[in-house]
Amino acid sequence: MGSLESNWAESCQFKPLDAEEFRKQAHQMVDFIADYYKTIESYPVLSQVRPGYLHSCLPESAPYRPESFDTILRDIQKHIIPGMTHWLSPNFFAFFPATVSTAAFLGEMLCTCFNAVGFNWLASPAATELEMIVMDWLANMLKLPKTFMFSGTGGGVIQNTTAESILVTLIAARDQALDIIGVENTHRLAVYGSDQTHSTFIKISKLAGISPRNIRSIPTTIDTDFSLSPILLREVVEADVAAGLIPLYLCATMGTTSTAAVDPIEPLAEVANEHGIWVHVDAAYAGSACICPEFRHYFNGIERVDSLSLSPHKWLLTYLDCCCLWVKNPSSLVKALNTNPEYLRNKPSESDSVVDYKDWQLGTGRRFKSLRLWLVLRSSGVMNLQSHIRSDIRLAKMFERLVKSDPRFEVVVPRKFAMVCFRLNPYSQFYSGYTEMLNRKLLEWVNSTGRVYMTHTIVGGVYMLRFAVGATLTEECHVAAAWELIMAGAEVLLKGDL
Ligand SMILES: *Cc1c(COP(=O)(O)O)cnc(C)c1O
Repeated sequence: MGSLESNWAESCQFKPLDAEEFRKQAHQMVDFIADYYKTIESYPVLSQVRPGYLHSCLPESAPYRPESFDTILRDIQKHIIPGMTHWLSPNFFAFFPATVSTAAFLGEMLCTCFNAVGFNWLASPAATELEMIVMDWLANMLKLPKTFMFSGTGGGVIQNTTAESILVTLIAARDQALDIIGVENTHRLAVYGSDQTHSTFIKISKLAGISPRNIRSIPTTIDTDFSLSPILLREVVEADVAAGLIPLYLCATMGTTSTAAVDPIEPLAEVANEHGIWVHVDAAYAGSACICPEFRHYFNGIERVDSLSLSPHKWLLTYLDCCCLWVKNPSSLVKALNTNPEYLRNKPSESDSVVDYKDWQLGTGRRFKSLRLWLVLRSSGVMNLQSHIRSDIRLAKMFERLVKSDPRFEVVVPRKFAMVCFRLNPYSQFYSGYTEMLNRKLLEWVNSTGRVYMTHTIVGGVYMLRFAVGATLTEECHVAAAWELIMAGAEVLLKGDL
């Protein structure tokens, strides 16, 4: 049979990376992707499959023999695409958008191409140095003070997500505090956010060893548009101090996840500074708007905070994941997170003349992600990025006008950026189970059509719908059509047909 020999011959031909084969298949893949982007509107935005659907489509085990790329592509079309919720659809208005661009895609390709595991400077000097440059570029665009820049006394790093930005800064703050008060006092450390702070904050605080009893979620109300009140912060901090706790860290939010509320950075930082609290500003979504001068005032007081994070994957056309973190005092991060195993030792690191980003993050390995941001910044120019932000805001304003023009609907909280929180409220009731039921039904109806995808939130006891404009392919006609659909749903509902 000669099977041994032929198996041997076959496996000798196996070349996981062959430049010519790569060229051929990658061209096919690019065509596949371009076609997908072109026809994306033909798919239901929200996937309509049932849990477990994929199990019956695919074999029980991996193939023993190789399969052709064509067969695999066919399966992607047939089995994977139906199970996708199409985040890049122009009719995607849920959560916050995940923005993209040709430039970022090409940057991603290049990042993947090198597969550099740039944990320290020597592991790819360009990876570290480009990241430093790009972080300073973006800091400049945001008019951050020099204290956050490498060209000043601080610096920036690309984390994967906000959770990691909060974790590394919280650990830096914690270790700084413990140096003074001693580890035996860990149980006395307290951290602060509002009831609108991203849910990850509580999880991260627990991960950082903060006692769950000392994690404060300070209530917000509609009177402050659901932003954190400095007066309340002061009360809570002072009560904690009186009770023998040690205030450690405040996570303020510039653009909350539910309603894009903006915590007033300046007065909050003033309270925090008095008590030696590390202030972090989570500007994951709305921070990007500050590249436009007309929004920069939301960062007033930023010179008083210790760290700031912002995720360009949400609004600056940069594929997931990319969370930019700036810190005033990088050495506090490095002190808390540095590792120095023998196998990573090298002359430049020991000379202290370079940045080793492994000491600014959780793990060791890291991708060359700054390439994406660099390509986006260069290919668009600040000019086009500003008009991209303004164009999304213009579309959101248009939607807001439509909502306001229909007496059956209302805008629940004032719109600041490109997201509108609204609801159907035909009988003008503020708190009412009936209004909530109407809106739940409306949302379900709209999403079940597959033509639009929106999500909801509940803030201050009020159930509301969130219409987040910003998917890269969205144009005016999509916003107009979404509103038509929402009105049609309301029509059906109010006639009692649902
Ligand atoms: C979306 C969001 C997060 C989490 O998102 P990342 O993608 O991890 O950055 C955190 N905070 C706020 C305010 C958000 O809107």
